[in-house]
Amino acid sequence: MVRILFSAPPGLWAEYRAPLTRALDEAGIKAEIVTGTGDPAAIDYVVFAPGGGLSDFTPFTGAKAVLSLWAGVETVVGNPTLTQPLCRMVDAGLEEGMVEWVTGHVLRHHLGFDRDICATEPHWDQRVPPLARDRTVAVLGLGALGRACAEALAALRFRVLGWSRNPRAVPGIDCHHGAEGLRPVLEQAGIVVLLLPRTPETEGLIDAERLSWLPEGAVLLNPGRGALIDEAAVLAALDAGRLGHATLDVFRTEPLPPDHPFWRHPRVTVTPHVASETRPASAARVIAENVRRAEAGEPLLFRVDRARGY
Ligand code: NDP
Repeated sequence: MVRILFSAPPGLWAEYRAPLTRALDEAGIKAEIVTGTGDPAAIDYVVFAPGGGLSDFTPFTGAKAVLSLWAGVETVVGNPTLTQPLCRMVDAGLEEGMVEWVTGHVLRHHLGFDRDICATEPHWDQRVPPLARDRTVAVLGLGALGRACAEALAALRFRVLGWSRNPRAVPGIDCHHGAEGLRPVLEQAGIVVLLLPRTPETEGLIDAERLSWLPEGAVLLNPGRGALIDEAAVLAALDAGRLGHATLDVFRTEPLPPDHPFWRHPRVTVTPHVASETRPASAARVIAENVRRAEAGEPLLFRVDRARGY
């Protein structure tokens, strides 16, 4: 019998209880899932999302892994009390949702939907949008989410450039990597999608200099993390016309404060951190598989590298 602590913001347990119980059962794991610590030394696994009140992992002396419900682990990876292996979430449902958000917002800008949807006067503007094959989209981050989005965009026939830390080969995507690989990617990008984790290396990556590498009027989509962009530089680039539009889902401060200039800027679209989320039905199977692996002495899936920060 393994003992699992579910530590997450209030309300999530109701969503996860049934799928997690079922997934563990299907994986052949006899488990007791608790939502209060009791004797922390007796806990074998911690299913974790920030906001559940757990910040000190020291007493979990017998825990074999901390299994994050979220893909982004920036708020926990640097926790000095966390000595147990940490795994992030790679979830098919999360990926599907992100692909839909990214392709939807790319198509909005590519096809110029705003011209017709937001028109307040009669207009007969017969500008025909270019084909996707004539539009270059750059996806920064080619991990679980970035790669899926890049592939979906390529399937729509966009010309897709990808950028990652290490060399990656993705069929149909023109892949670049490393600090020196960023400029050629941004210089060609009509639309840029940020799907990088927040780490010390990516913090403020999209600053005034990187924005100046973009073609005039490029569109920025940020469903990654708010800290990837220098907000003041993005506003300045919008005002200067360097950026044509910014569609932002994530922010340095969430909820985005009511007086933040992003809310009122005519060429900024704010979505309230809803690009995608972990879906309990599929995520529960990922958690159960990792518990099964650990119990069988097999390597954990999606283990976070503390030194890299993701
Ligand atoms: P992964 O860890 O699978 O992928 C991260 C990618 O970023 C990898 O390709 C990695 O490169 C690249 N990367 C990391 N650091 C650098 C760097 N310094 N320079 C260049 N490339 C870098 O993450 P996911 O795809 O699962 O998720 C990405 C992010 O999406 C999450 O961290 C989270 O912040 C965000 N997210 C947002 C959601 C929302 O609703 N808005 C929902 C879920 C996640 P390499 O391949 O070389 O390792």
